[in-house]
Amino acid sequence: MGNITIERTQSPKQKPDQNNLGFGNYFTDHMFVMDYTAGKGWHDPRIIPYQPLQLEPSAMVLHYGQAIFEGLKAYKAKDGRILLFRPHQNMARTNISNDRLCIPPIDVDFGVEAIKTLVKLEKDWIPEAEGTSLYIRPFIIATDPYLGVRPSNTYKFIIILSPVGAYYPEGINPVKIYVESKYVRAVKGGIGYAKTPGNYAASLKSQVEAHEKGYTQVLWLDGVERKYIEEVGTMNVFFKIDGKVITPALEGSILAGITRDSSIALLKHWGIPVEERRISIEEVYQAHAEGRLEEAFGTGTAAVISPIGSLNWNDHIITINNGETGPIAKRLYDTLTGIQWGDLEDPFGWVVPVE
Ligand SMILES: *Cc1c(COP(=O)(O)O)cnc(C)c1O
Repeated sequence: MGNITIERTQSPKQKPDQNNLGFGNYFTDHMFVMDYTAGKGWHDPRIIPYQPLQLEPSAMVLHYGQAIFEGLKAYKAKDGRILLFRPHQNMARTNISNDRLCIPPIDVDFGVEAIKTLVKLEKDWIPEAEGTSLYIRPFIIATDPYLGVRPSNTYKFIIILSPVGAYYPEGINPVKIYVESKYVRAVKGGIGYAKTPGNYAASLKSQVEAHEKGYTQVLWLDGVERKYIEEVGTMNVFFKIDGKVITPALEGSILAGITRDSSIALLKHWGIPVEERRISIEEVYQAHAEGRLEEAFGTGTAAVISPIGSLNWNDHIITINNGETGPIAKRLYDTLTGIQWGDLEDPFGWVVPVE
């Protein structure tokens, strides 16, 4: 692969207002690019000024969606260090997604090195206001100019960076969720376990209809029986019933979230029982009816923890924990964000400093 060359921009942009960033609105001055050519492998890793891509209109990604992406964040600690959270997990997951999409694998350590090199160059772009961070978006696209259906022989691996605002400017807040019984996101044997754009394209219609009905997100059920719970929006989902925390097992249609994995590790560390298994929407409603449903929340890099205040399943609405954030959701949120920003001890060695 060789060394990463750096071409600096001649016209640095003005940085946005740190208190008004939102999510994914602004992009930094530089981007990482590396090419793949069959027979040659990944080559020419480089950092260049952030700029539009030159692609043939026939580039395969535009027609058949052969692409994957990742999402993680860089955090500015109070002592000035720049911290990444489990970046090797993101690069390892890239290869799981790549395998499913017939994209050649990347070197995990080199991927982390590319992230570190780019983040270091752009360190002045990491916002410092409370709860803000620098979102990192690695992605790979198929670039062969060809309209036949087969895996591409050429790819680009690109990393762009976006300063993002606090997810909860007014504090962590429970959301209203619509249980989706019409559309499905993924099926076993499909691409649900890969982080690939097609899963998001498939979810838009449901999201739009849920928004129109006044809901923030949808709870996805399995694609065969519309019975077992899968994910909430683009997050993994957890329920606390009878003192036990339950999350759907990874059986091929669910994305293996790094926040999910970290939450399970913390819960076990605290001695709270965790079960990874099938859980039906019926079981959740039954537990609620019997007063045993204590909490529900989603997990993902963007929001970290997103408490669920209510569910609507076929117009049957239940309120969870009086619509308030539960103690487990709060404790996970405080601990994960504390570790990510370097304020709390990191017993699992999750945090990777950029130096
Ligand atoms: C990215 C993603 C998640 C969350 O994964 P994290 O690694 O925790 O950010 C969950 N579900 C879907 C569908 C995703 O794309």
